[in-house]
Amino acid sequence: MKVAIVGAGISGLSSAHYLRKLCSEGNVPLELVLFEASPRPGGVVDTLKNGDMVLELGPDSFITSKPWALDLARDLGIEDSLIGVGYGCKKNTFVYQAGELHALPQGFFLMAPSKLLPFLRCGLFSTGAKIRVLLEPLVPLGGDGDESVCSFVRRRFGREIFDKAAQPLLGGIYMADPEKLSLLSTMPQFLEMEKRSKSVLVDLIRNPPTSRGESGARYGLFLTPVEGMSVIVEKLCGSAEFARKHYKTPVVSLKKSERGWLIVSDSGEEEFDAAILSVGADAAGLLLSDIDPQLGTGLSGIHYVSSVVAVLVFDKKDFRGLPDGLGIIIPSKEGMNLVACSLYSSKFPGKSGSGKVVIRCFLGGELNPDAVFWDEEEIKSVLREELTRVFGFDNDPTEIYIRKYKMSMPRFALGHKDDISVVMHRLSRHRGLALCGAAYLGVGIPDCVHSGIIAARKIHMDMIR
Ligand SMILES: Cc1cc2nc3c(=O)[nH]c(=O)nc-3n(C[C@H](O)[C@H](O)[C@H](O)COP(=O)(O)OP(=O)(O)OC[C@H]3O[C@@H](n4cnc5c(N)ncnc54)[C@H](O)[C@@H]3O)c2cc1C
Repeated sequence: MKVAIVGAGISGLSSAHYLRKLCSEGNVPLELVLFEASPRPGGVVDTLKNGDMVLELGPDSFITSKPWALDLARDLGIEDSLIGVGYGCKKNTFVYQAGELHALPQGFFLMAPSKLLPFLRCGLFSTGAKIRVLLEPLVPLGGDGDESVCSFVRRRFGREIFDKAAQPLLGGIYMADPEKLSLLSTMPQFLEMEKRSKSVLVDLIRNPPTSRGESGARYGLFLTPVEGMSVIVEKLCGSAEFARKHYKTPVVSLKKSERGWLIVSDSGEEEFDAAILSVGADAAGLLLSDIDPQLGTGLSGIHYVSSVVAVLVFDKKDFRGLPDGLGIIIPSKEGMNLVACSLYSSKFPGKSGSGKVVIRCFLGGELNPDAVFWDEEEIKSVLREELTRVFGFDNDPTEIYIRKYKMSMPRFALGHKDDISVVMHRLSRHRGLALCGAAYLGVGIPDCVHSGIIAARKIHMDMIR
């Protein structure tokens, strides 16, 4: 069978890898052809190597509580090169507030404490906010429908917890406006906690999700390949055994044909038995709008947000004001352009070179959509001003690498889960067509790999039936 993979991000490449595996196991001959709009594979995965530094301009690690990315790493033979986060460092997350950095209390998990003592002792939250959190078990259960992250946190824990912790923590992960973000599609575990224990606080205290000494994110669950995230991309390109790889070749149209599917791109028209679209839901919606307008509209309705990542390298001997932790989040109430800073050289000392402090800064997101349109000089000037406020010193970077991600992160709106069920139901009518990517199951790399596995299974089933 001859299959087109459209889009060479982690999702599309994973679908190719697993389809190759399924066909090898079943002795089904497979010819895979890749079409990618940009000059290189990887999509938002972007590792930059400079001397002994391995810098990530896109994703820097993946979570292991969902199995698919780790399973893939094992499959690709790179398990031994995976390293953990923040070895030998305090796993604190700091909140910038009115000119000061406050550590989130140990055991604080995204929107609520799982340990009471550090929470009650911390200076970040007011006494009123702490009392409001202690009263959370008395808050009535929510309804059965979807709810925004903002509404859920405010309802259960009050406005201050949302403003100072949940908004910047979740805003940093999803780059989205939590008022528009579906809780069911992003963090359903909190809905389960509410249902199971009638209180998120009680459930978190009974089953603390963070490991010892962590606050904010569950750093202990993340892994990264020491040679860079791009090694996953390189290995996938090899294991898929593509017959041909077309870069700088956007697919501009897709049609049904006698054989199955006709792909139209700059390299001409070519027929395939099947096609896997891994191009972002908006682009897939455009490609499918003539073939199945309802499917096209469902896909085009998924909204995307933009962001900017800047990696700054400093000489350690000159850097002042580095906090003892792994990340800093900036609440939108502070009125700054910075959303978060990841203390990369503390998170991954093995990837950041010797004698360096490396900081990854995130700008933009849904609450600041203009940042992605600024030129590099504007971005640098904003960084200079705001980092001075955050670190308390005007540290001078020796190198700055900037990457803009225009409409690269899907925002899961209210009702997203139902909308995706409709899309997938509609897709099942089309033999030899599959979709995968960050827009369907989740934005993290494990979910992207999982979506690639599901796409590969659909094509395999469609073709052997
Ligand atoms: C800045 C940033 C940091 C992140 N950090 C993390 C992290 O640390 N951990 C984590 O788990 N997740 C992280 N994520 C999320 C995760 O990295 C992404 O969701 C995931 O990599 C998306 O992969 P994808 O293959 O679905 O899409 P993409 O990587 O966007 O790939 C889609 C590909 O399709 C191509 N394409 C588009 N249109 C066409 C067309 N018409 N024809 C041919 N090709 C086309 C594009 O050029 C692109 O290469 C991060 C995301 C961003 C943006």
